[in-house]
Amino acid sequence: MTTTTLEHMAFDLAVVSARGATRWKRGHPWIFRSDLVRFPSAPAGPVRVEDPRGKPIGTALWSPTSEISIRMIDRRPDAALDHDWWTERLARAITRRGGVLEHSSACRLVHGEGDAVPSLVCDRYDRWLVVQLMSAGLEACRTPIIDALISLTGCDGILARHDLALREREGLTRETTVLHGDVPQEVEVHEHGVRYLAAPWTGQKTGAFLDQRENRHRIGRLARGRALDCFAYHGSFAMHMAQQAADVVAIDSSAAALERARDNAARNGCTNISFVEADAFDELRALERAGERFDTIVVDPPAFAKNRPSLPAALRGYHDINLRALRLLAPGGIMLTASCSFHVTKPIFLDMLEGAAADSGRHIALRDLCAQPDDHPELLTVPETGYLKGAIVEALD
Ligand code: SAH
Repeated sequence: MTTTTLEHMAFDLAVVSARGATRWKRGHPWIFRSDLVRFPSAPAGPVRVEDPRGKPIGTALWSPTSEISIRMIDRRPDAALDHDWWTERLARAITRRGGVLEHSSACRLVHGEGDAVPSLVCDRYDRWLVVQLMSAGLEACRTPIIDALISLTGCDGILARHDLALREREGLTRETTVLHGDVPQEVEVHEHGVRYLAAPWTGQKTGAFLDQRENRHRIGRLARGRALDCFAYHGSFAMHMAQQAADVVAIDSSAAALERARDNAARNGCTNISFVEADAFDELRALERAGERFDTIVVDPPAFAKNRPSLPAALRGYHDINLRALRLLAPGGIMLTASCSFHVTKPIFLDMLEGAAADSGRHIALRDLCAQPDDHPELLTVPETGYLKGAIVEALD
């Protein structure tokens, strides 16, 4: 048997339309079901991919039940996605995080398509990893992926947070389960000198909001006077601001989140944070009526726009909360405002903020734009890798 025959047996073949092939050529790894000319007969996993003329365009992860049928992963058509391949690809991503780990013990090691590993997320919390394998094609490579992560990081345990709805679209089960070693319920991590507990099993995302780490540090250094943290969750922004501000008010509607925030504040010896369990929209209105003013404000709400149809309603929410917060800014006050809705793009976000500034009747200066940190790379050719945007503004009067 020749090598070529062996390769074809091992890889199976997907033929994609010219449009699908062009998409990959221009830097986007997803090829949709409608752009498949010939479906592989193999089960989910790595396949070789050709264009309609029979020209090989690379190797992909094949997901038989997904609308995103093909996720291109290597420009070589005969890449064997074995232990060595995964070790090399994941090492490239992990090495990029060296800078982040100098000042923080929690970071994203692999950001899916942003690290040329479609549908894989891996976050590190001190000595433990939390992974999300979000496609059937990737799940077929689970063993070499987990083995490579263990040998590259020497971690004590790996948890799969597979409680994601999108796994169902891939025909995969939803579960939270240990894949290696042991993983504790809580892990103490630090970022820029602030310590907090991450909750890998139950916390939002994979246990904490790692994507705001650098923005928390930034506003922490700018904070002064009276500070306000709206949508405080576990108090991470509040604790950074508490280092320099005289006092901080942290608002969240979740009692459980605030309980964790209080615990975190105690861990850092912060005694100048007061916690308010309330709806942020109502509370900001009440603070304005009471004539309160703040020198430093953070507005970091959950994603109001979960999908495209909800965008108009979401924008009314963003406008409303930003308008209220701007009205509470003392003259010379600084505000960091963010949105993690994928559908609220950077231009849409800035447009919303401009509208809120206009309605506030204040002179609001744009001081800086906020984006994703280095460990959440946003690829220009893959818009889906970007979702977090924000701004730092100043009230001039
Ligand atoms: N700033 C946080 C992340 C915020 S997550 C960090 O960097 O870690 C969003 C938070 O908003 C959650 O804790 C949720 O409980 C809270 N929340 C959602 N809707 C709210 C509302 N209407 N009012 C107040 N808090 C709300």
